[in-house]
Amino acid sequence: MKTIIEPFRIKMTEAIKLNTKEERVVNLEKAHNNVFLLDAEDCPIDLLTDSGTGAMSTKQWAALMLGDESYAGSRSWKHFRDTVAHITGKKHILPTHQGRAAEAILAQTVVKAGDIIPNNSHFDTTRANFEYVGATALNLLQEKGYDIFLDVPFKGDMDTIALRKVIEEHGKEKIPFAMITVTNNTGGGQAVSMANIKEVSKILKDAGIPFFIDCCRFAENAFFIKENEEGYANKTLTEIAKEMFLLCDGATMSAKKDGLANIGGFLVCNNDEWAQMFTNLLILREGFPTYGGLSGRDLETIAVGLGEALEYDYQKYRHATMTYLGDRFERLGIPHVRPVGGHAVFLDAKQFLPHIPSSEYPGIALVNALYIEGGVRGVELGSVMFASRDEDGNEVPSPLELVRLAVPRRVYTQSHFDYLVEVIAEVWKKRNSLRGYKFTYQAEFLRHFTARFARVEG
Ligand SMILES: *Cc1c(COP(=O)(O)O)cnc(C)c1O
Repeated sequence: MKTIIEPFRIKMTEAIKLNTKEERVVNLEKAHNNVFLLDAEDCPIDLLTDSGTGAMSTKQWAALMLGDESYAGSRSWKHFRDTVAHITGKKHILPTHQGRAAEAILAQTVVKAGDIIPNNSHFDTTRANFEYVGATALNLLQEKGYDIFLDVPFKGDMDTIALRKVIEEHGKEKIPFAMITVTNNTGGGQAVSMANIKEVSKILKDAGIPFFIDCCRFAENAFFIKENEEGYANKTLTEIAKEMFLLCDGATMSAKKDGLANIGGFLVCNNDEWAQMFTNLLILREGFPTYGGLSGRDLETIAVGLGEALEYDYQKYRHATMTYLGDRFERLGIPHVRPVGGHAVFLDAKQFLPHIPSSEYPGIALVNALYIEGGVRGVELGSVMFASRDEDGNEVPSPLELVRLAVPRRVYTQSHFDYLVEVIAEVWKKRNSLRGYKFTYQAEFLRHFTARFARVEG
């Protein structure tokens, strides 16, 4: 059969409150033109993030009831620890309340001011955590990753020539570790090939620099490897994931992604000395090392969720959703990143709204138009989120102005996606009338979350 169906049926429903365009205009104004400040119930199709927004399975809900809430050494901790150790092969497993907590622990123990942390592309919290301690978060994405219309696999690959150069120039004294993000969230959710991970691993090993993987979407990345990389077609997703983790010294994880859970994360490593430092800070910030800011029931649902994320039929269905959207955009001529990402589809706001310059944030203009048109909440991944500053403190725009429509796991059905396509098509028709935005308030770090905007008139 050609049709790929959801490999589950629905046992419980959650009502969506529908609203009118007039109501949405008022809602957005009250939210200072920043969709992060909208009430979720005012967003009928909420594609703000795939983080923690997924639906749990019956097995996860059943596991939740088995949660052992003991402070130390609970049964749920052992379930979590053994599952994470099985997949990652790492010696030290530290639970955290989410991904950024793992990053913060890493940043505040082994990174110092003036250090450089290379990555294919840093995620916003990763970047912020390293910059917060005075380090430079360096993106070393391969050239093909910046070509958003080039339809080839593995556009999340790291530029290994650039990595070698950075190591030559700064040495291991300035580079406490390097990272690679799978899949590459900020670069369009593009996958990283095993070949690239292997090469990066070897370069770093030869230079004596530890290698960490930001593994939030490791199972989606494993699916891309199975489908597109030679030699992996007959391997299970679990086998592929294990092979990948064998190549690194440690990893940071948000279980809100491929943990198929609503909260949680972890930090893993092999180095005993680092693990001791991580543990000490974990106790200060997150909690005792056998729960790390999570309840026993969270640990249970993550342990089950990690296994479900590695099921082939689930990943096949998930990817079919993205491909379905991509194909519809293609037919309508709507500019989007190719190939589709593992967790989201990305519209290219630069091409969508060529009359709005980066300094007036075309991504925000598009996000806001999608909300008003159909109550769809997406997110800007462009200059509001990723602009840098030059030496004089002037804003340097992000090379990409994208709008991400992230797809929560196992939540929306095909008719929701048909509706989404209709909303985008409507906005596409009236694109010439859209206007840019300017800041009326911005915070120093992670400004997109709390920013306030005003429309640029005239
Ligand atoms: C979500 C995410 C993080 C941070 O995880 P949180 O659980 O949101 O703190 C880090 N890196 C990547 C690639 C992510 O997608």
